Amino acid sequence: MSEATLTEQLLQVETQIEALLKQKTELEQKIKQINLAHAQQTSQCQKRIVVVGGRGKLGSLFVRLFVELGHSVSVFEQQDWQNAADILKNADLVVVSVPINLTTQIIQQLVKYLPANTVLADLTSIKAEPLAAMLKHHTGPVVGLHPMFGPDVPDIHDQVVAYCDGRQPEQYQWLIDALSLLGAKLNKVSAESHDKSMAFIQVMRHFSTFVYGLHLQQENPKITDLISLSSPIYRLELAMVGRLFAQDSQLYADIIYSNPNNFDLLKRFAERFNEGIELLESGDKELFKQEFADVRSWFGEYAEHFLKESRVMLEAAHHYTELEIK
Ligand code: NAD
Repeated sequence: MSEATLTEQLLQVETQIEALLKQKTELEQKIKQINLAHAQQTSQCQKRIVVVGGRGKLGSLFVRLFVELGHSVSVFEQQDWQNAADILKNADLVVVSVPINLTTQIIQQLVKYLPANTVLADLTSIKAEPLAAMLKHHTGPVVGLHPMFGPDVPDIHDQVVAYCDGRQPEQYQWLIDALSLLGAKLNKVSAESHDKSMAFIQVMRHFSTFVYGLHLQQENPKITDLISLSSPIYRLELAMVGRLFAQDSQLYADIIYSNPNNFDLLKRFAERFNEGIELLESGDKELFKQEFADVRSWFGEYAEHFLKESRVMLEAAHHYTELEIK
């Protein structure tokens, strides 16, 4: 078979893939609409919801979700304190979505305007401190939420939302159900356990990404050279570092500084880095391979699983870069 014929066939396959992908998107869209309609029905009656910080990045996403669910939503912003009593007096649910460093103080300021039966919730990336503040200052139902995604997601389908029971869970079950019906994966966890996991998932990751970026900036290689020599896997890694610096430094500073207990974890991380350098300088490749094997056995069957999973992700990334370059 000639190259021209094969190229022609390849083009046909690519056209079919594009058509199938379009069909997939349309089907996903339909499923989402059905889920949304179901969530609207399950919400039973329209709730009055106030989002404090509702013009912010995450707050505005939740305002949009609540509106889509058919609720009556008000935004409460920095300039609204004079009208706080009016805005908050009939709220069924108040969601606090303000910068982490202001959260406890704002919860304290808010509660005096809240009826005892109002559900008080927050979206803060840390959970122990805000949950304790809500429970301390509000006598009614309380729940802590942590959406494990940023404001740039198109919808919350397949996104994880961690939640921590506070008080009177039956009063906010409708909220948990509605988020599940929108396709989010709700994960119930204690505030302490959440914060311990976040030390690894967020604090350690964001801090090492910050240091990686700092190192790049100070070593100052030509970024265009790095990009042009990066095949999808390296491009993805570079993008994961670069995207941090396109976001809000206050948010990342608050997450990383949130709990001084995490500093010890980061110091141990730095010590292991230095131990790794000593290992390199010793020239002992056998020991390196032994440690490599130890880490591999810690990952257990997840090592193989992650290899397969990342292959699928890289395939998608490869497709994406190809589309971008065209
Ligand atoms: P943001 O800075 O974009 O929004 C904060 C909002 O709070 C702003 O609209 C601001 O005007 C408002 N605000 C500040 N002071 C206020 C006051 N005194 N009274 C009323 N409103 C006030 O921040 P964000 O990124 O949307 O983060 C908000 C919360 O969401 C944080 O707790 C953060 O941990 C959490 N969160 C954010 C993300 C994310 O990727 N952005 C992801 C998960 C969780």
